[in-house]
Amino acid sequence: MESIYNFSAGPAVLPREVLLQVQEELLDYQGSGMSVMEMSHRGVIINEIRDRAEASLRQLMNISADYEVLFLQGGATTQFAMIPMNLVRNGTADYVNTGVWSTKAMAEANQYLTVREVASSADQHFSYVPTVDPEQLNPEADYLHITTNNTIHGTVFSSLPKSGEVPLVGDMSSDILSKDYPVSEFGLIYAGAQKNIGPAGLTLVIVRKDLLGPLWPGTPLMMQYAVHAKKKSMHNTPPTFAIYLAGLVFDWLLEMGGLAEMERRNREKAALLYDFLDASSAFRGSVRVEDRSLMNVVFRLPETAQEQRFLAESAAAGLKTLKGHRSVGGMRASLYNAMPLAGVKALISFMKEFERTL
Ligand SMILES: *Cc1c(COP(=O)(O)O)cnc(C)c1O
Repeated sequence: MESIYNFSAGPAVLPREVLLQVQEELLDYQGSGMSVMEMSHRGVIINEIRDRAEASLRQLMNISADYEVLFLQGGATTQFAMIPMNLVRNGTADYVNTGVWSTKAMAEANQYLTVREVASSADQHFSYVPTVDPEQLNPEADYLHITTNNTIHGTVFSSLPKSGEVPLVGDMSSDILSKDYPVSEFGLIYAGAQKNIGPAGLTLVIVRKDLLGPLWPGTPLMMQYAVHAKKKSMHNTPPTFAIYLAGLVFDWLLEMGGLAEMERRNREKAALLYDFLDASSAFRGSVRVEDRSLMNVVFRLPETAQEQRFLAESAAAGLKTLKGHRSVGGMRASLYNAMPLAGVKALISFMKEFERTL
């Protein structure tokens, strides 16, 4: 097998050990004679797999009994609508606009309540995270929404805004499990699985139980958190194989030493690449230093022709999917939990060589 490093922003690299275990169990899951993919979601095995995945996630993230853990579908994009449908009370919510995903979340929420943009970094192409002034927040807001890590722009909230009694809602699609976030500071956390958890098709929602109440009139049952909570995410056929695989990733993370250890590794990997960018005469990071993401490192070369050559040559050298998002251009290296340190080192040596050819 050709050995490559996959820097894709998502769907993204998965731990090799986990994929090998899946391969081993693919045709015959633990003596059942069946693949996990072939099993009824009403059967004992899938229910055990789901329960175990939830227990491992609760342990990893230290999630208290005050929260429901839901395994849903529809991606983070469906949550852009489900959140206002389920949390609307006073009819208004505060949003921090830090890029493409926040903008989409706001446009969707606007169909169900009045969206107030309380801070934005649109003025500088979302290359930083704006300060959230507590004075600007509406104490009557149904929630305050942030995108903790901005996958496309390469920025992260290095400290969480203080929202007081107003529930904080976090789109954690690209940095969940990358560090030890204090779950208790959030009313709701959501994430598409395909970045730092597992395969596409699974969406994780962690929601404080006291927030499950009245709904937007006519909210379909499939869009109601309370329905999914009551049915343990089995209201309809859930993405069973994706839940199984996510559960294996959670167990892998526990084995690796948990989220504090993942954060240490992620800081080490990102620091290597940022230090190189800061010292480089050609490559440069395009994000304000204090807001740099540990997960998505966005960088540029002086000319777009050089960037195109870099992308072609790096891909040929086995460093895959380094192209930046089309709205930003340039390059992006996603360094999720499953990206080994060796991958980052290989990227940096390639960049050093490339620099010499300019
Ligand atoms: C990828 C991403 C999304 C969209 O996720 P889907 O699962 O494709 O709906 C939303 N928010 C953030 C921060 C993302 O990185």
